[in-house]
Amino acid sequence: MALRAPTGTTDLLPEQAHAWNSIRTVALATFGLYGYQPIETPVFEQLEVFVRGIGDATDVVGKEMFLTFSQHAVEKIASGEKPSLADTLALRPEQTAGVARAIAQHNLVPPEAATLKLVYAGSMFRHERPQKGRLREFHQIGAECIGSAEPSADAEVIIMLMRFFESLGIPQDAMRLLINSMGDDDCRPAYREQVRAYILAHTTELCDECVRRADTNPLRSFDCKNPKCQEIMTDAPAITDALCPSCAAHYTTVKSLLDDAAITYVEQPCLVRGLDYYTRTVFEVQVVDGLGAQNAIGGGGRYDKLIAEFGGKPTPGLGFAVGFERIVLALQAAGAEGYALPHPQVYIAAVDASTRAMAFSLANRLRDVGIATELDHQSRSLKSQFKQAGRSGALFVVIVGPDEMARGVVTLRNMQSSEEQTVPLDDLVEKVSTTI
Ligand code: AMP
Repeated sequence: MALRAPTGTTDLLPEQAHAWNSIRTVALATFGLYGYQPIETPVFEQLEVFVRGIGDATDVVGKEMFLTFSQHAVEKIASGEKPSLADTLALRPEQTAGVARAIAQHNLVPPEAATLKLVYAGSMFRHERPQKGRLREFHQIGAECIGSAEPSADAEVIIMLMRFFESLGIPQDAMRLLINSMGDDDCRPAYREQVRAYILAHTTELCDECVRRADTNPLRSFDCKNPKCQEIMTDAPAITDALCPSCAAHYTTVKSLLDDAAITYVEQPCLVRGLDYYTRTVFEVQVVDGLGAQNAIGGGGRYDKLIAEFGGKPTPGLGFAVGFERIVLALQAAGAEGYALPHPQVYIAAVDASTRAMAFSLANRLRDVGIATELDHQSRSLKSQFKQAGRSGALFVVIVGPDEMARGVVTLRNMQSSEEQTVPLDDLVEKVSTTI
């Protein structure tokens, strides 16, 4: 049987790969306005980075990791030894943990530093059940803003995220921004206890896993996919009623800054998001119609304890990630224009074999001055070269014929107006450059 890409992965064929590059370019440009600089971290990390950073009681780490071993570990296993934790590697399920590890490792936040703002883009891997908008290898663009505990940093990050989606062409009214505060070490432990007690009081109505979560990670039950559990958890105690005064004040300021910026949001006390590292502000952007269950196009939150978790100086921060595949679905659902592949500006047609070398040379001369140029490499007839030129979307066709060549000229045809003119060979580059 012919080999296929693994389940849950897709090839980004030229159109999709072009969309990915374009969306990444928009992200870098938009986030650049806010002072973000690029960072890239390894696609795989020591498993411990994710266990420590994300938490082993989360679905992402507890159930969805792609683990791998170094050759060294394989040799150890073969000789009956246990591989060490450092030999156990995992494909990244998200990149915040890797970025936080890099920040701690390279001490990227010296005491006098301004806020560190980082943007990344790449593949992430989660062993989930594939469905529309849910893959095992997918692409995220993310931003991390490190070094400020101020609510203005939260508001800035959220505003930037919404502006990014708008600049991609997703209309404001096609999106729903959900926000919540998850409290901090002062108020969350007591709140966890309240949720635990609530779960234990509803064990007959909740699924086994939610009941088990009462002891491991009760807040995760808010993320349960089971509709009955979702219904029961709607009536669970709300974190917003349990916030300590400083978390409540932080949350109030974030909301008022969003109000000032005319950003519409919905407060969602059940929003806890799937990862353990969040403190205080969390947010998610959903698409109102067209994406079914996988309607979250992006989300994130504050993680004031994460950098210290990797041995770095305790440094507050927050960030978000957006999913490329879901943005594409959202753009389709909104009827927005996609990212059409660029087409050549000029097609060079050789009338016969005697003019091919000249056609080849002209193509190179045009490309050397930055004009996208295409020509035939299959010795096709002039008629089929014209067909190719039409299909390629080229604005101009240069026809190189033996008689014209002998006179030192070529024919330049405008594909829109069908106008043709004779141009001296030596003037072609200049002529095309000034006409395009
Ligand atoms: P998370 O890292 O879970 O906060 O996810 C951030 C964004 O990544 C989500 O809002 C989705 O747009 C996208 N995403 C997460 N998991 C997947 C997946 N399995 N397949 C495709 N996109 C995903």
